[in-house]
Amino acid sequence: MLRISNIEIYYGPVRAINGVSLEVPEGRIVTLLGGNGAGKTTILKTICGLLEDQPDTGVIEFMGKRLNGLNPEQIVRRGITYIQEGRAIFEELTVDENLLMGAYVRRDVHDLRRDRARVLNYFPVLGQRLYQLAGTLSGGEQQMLVIGRGLMANPRLMLLDEPSLGLAPAMVKEVFQIIKTINEEGTTILLVEQNAKMALQIAHYGYLLEAGRIVLSDEAESLLDNQDVRNHYLGIATEVAPKGVTRHKKKKRWR
Ligand code: ATP
Repeated sequence: MLRISNIEIYYGPVRAINGVSLEVPEGRIVTLLGGNGAGKTTILKTICGLLEDQPDTGVIEFMGKRLNGLNPEQIVRRGITYIQEGRAIFEELTVDENLLMGAYVRRDVHDLRRDRARVLNYFPVLGQRLYQLAGTLSGGEQQMLVIGRGLMANPRLMLLDEPSLGLAPAMVKEVFQIIKTINEEGTTILLVEQNAKMALQIAHYGYLLEAGRIVLSDEAESLLDNQDVRNHYLGIATEVAPKGVTRHKKKKRWR
């Protein structure tokens, strides 16, 4: 569905993304993992046309057509919605008005009622708060609202940036469960996360990004079992180096 081939992105003279290629097949959840500053958000913004400069090299294709050169509105109309990090809601509007804002590019207004009902089915708590100002919602409810608002665009592909950020563990679990359901009901998802464990538990495939490069990619299940991933991203140190043995930095193996 989405194919990124060899993109390079610079902020001024600094190269933030260095030859990244990745694919998101239709119907899947693909997760892009990496630490602070690895370049995850830059990749999502590039897909959506939100960066001032186009990629210096590389191609981005969606459903077989190039996205390079399109503006953000054209990209939303192609069927891609970006749920930004940080839960940007319209605080002074009601929950219902926020949801409707997500549908601003749509021409098929007769389907809006159906999609609103679908969103409220995923997030019943929003149904109880429809006429409440969005600014009064809890953090978890606001995260549900931004995902719901994104769904009101009826996307084929949803880009999610750190949906777990700042949420209590129980709420993270709930939000991830809903993301899984949204996918099972037909929406393809590219999920950027620092919470690698939760992301890999719902994803089909994962990519690891370090300093603007993909350093590893595999089926999500295999990444969960991978020793390096466990040590560096999941915080599970299951292998202890024997005394006197050093870690090979470049290949990241014990020797
Ligand atoms: P985080 O999880 O902390 O948001 P990230 O993996 O999403 O990190 P990016 O925000 O994409 O990383 O940043 C990648 C690199 O590009 C970082 O070194 C960052 O400092 C740099 N960068 C990001 N935005 C800009 C900008 N507008 N101008 C200059 N450099 C930037």
